Amino acid sequence: MRRHARAAGLDDALIVNTCAVTSEAQRQAEQAIRRAHRDAPERPIIVTGCAAQIAPQRFAAMPQVARVLGNEEKLTAEAWGASAEHARIEVNDIMQATKLAPQLIDGFDQQTRAFIQVQQGCDHRCTFCIIPFGRGNARSVPMGDVINQVRHLVKGGTKEVVLTGVDITSYGPDLPGKPSLGQLVRRLLAAVPELPRLRLSSIDSIEIDEHLLHVLANEPRFMPHLHLSLQAGSDLILKRMKRRHLRADALRVCQHIRALRPDVVFGADLIAGFPTETEEQFQDSLALVEDCGLIYLHVFPYSERKGTPAARMPQVAKAVRKERAARLRAAGDAALDAYTQSQVGSECQVLVEKGGLARSPQFLAVSLPDAPAGRLVDVRLEANPNNGKGPALRGRSLAPTPSNIPS
Ligand code: SF4
Repeated sequence: MRRHARAAGLDDALIVNTCAVTSEAQRQAEQAIRRAHRDAPERPIIVTGCAAQIAPQRFAAMPQVARVLGNEEKLTAEAWGASAEHARIEVNDIMQATKLAPQLIDGFDQQTRAFIQVQQGCDHRCTFCIIPFGRGNARSVPMGDVINQVRHLVKGGTKEVVLTGVDITSYGPDLPGKPSLGQLVRRLLAAVPELPRLRLSSIDSIEIDEHLLHVLANEPRFMPHLHLSLQAGSDLILKRMKRRHLRADALRVCQHIRALRPDVVFGADLIAGFPTETEEQFQDSLALVEDCGLIYLHVFPYSERKGTPAARMPQVAKAVRKERAARLRAAGDAALDAYTQSQVGSECQVLVEKGGLARSPQFLAVSLPDAPAGRLVDVRLEANPNNGKGPALRGRSLAPTPSNIPS
């Protein structure tokens, strides 16, 4: 988007890429637009992203907004062009999109980890979710394009790649040969041997295939860290959400993967206070933290999105949703603390990011102040005595230094 804006002479435009996943996200986008206009009234504001795709008129009605671009349009040079030639709203029907043009990205400012989109959209219709209406149906980036993009980034110094998408485990059926995500990962690691670390963004546990399990078991460059889209721990709530797994499936998959790769850690997306959720059903979600061994939680208090089936179900009071979300987050924090403490004294390789922060293969934050960003460093993990608000761990480099080389 930045590249297109520059090419169109819109260097001073402010681009607001909105999110629609909760009503709070939409409210914050509107607030950000008003604030941005107050701070720099001379700069044109261009609004895009999922909230703009779903409700273009709503943003176009804001006097601070110069133009509204849809999610497809925002990635085409034509839509940016000189603004005089364009309509104020350029948002097409995203449900008609069938192709996904790969975006060649040179790198990410000051970051050593690159996010590569391999998939877009979603063919499922979970009852709480508005995302398919912002992103359209599922479509995939051809394998060759993903591999070229990763090679290009690695040549530029990227040490870690994260494959992302809305529903990445549904990668492939629209491509020749119908490759799965697991096949993509295997092919990518084989084709780019110089890529040191690969991760996946959130995946649907029910769609993990034998290829992905093979990679988990055999490929050390695939990081032992999976984020699962679990959403709830009660079978009845999962059915009302129209998810495709049950509680037992989630437990089975975690156990199976842990047996293949004992050092793996799991994160999960969970919704607190879904319509009709009782305290007992909520307890089933809470128990997942321990039963699946989850250490990274993304918790959302349920947020009704207009037009979705769940918004018409009997609602749980907002205060209860908030309170349950807080209990889930507290359980997640405690699990992460316990896991972090258990790693004191162990050795691993960390990737140094900016500002003296590094990440372990399990994505633990490790303080490593003197190492340059972009370096992979073998360290021993120690408790960080002066962590304050920073990481609870610090790394001691295992590399020989003048003081620890035996004479
Ligand atoms: S699979 Fe994910 S993106 Fe698709 S509808 Fe369900 S929650 Fe939304």
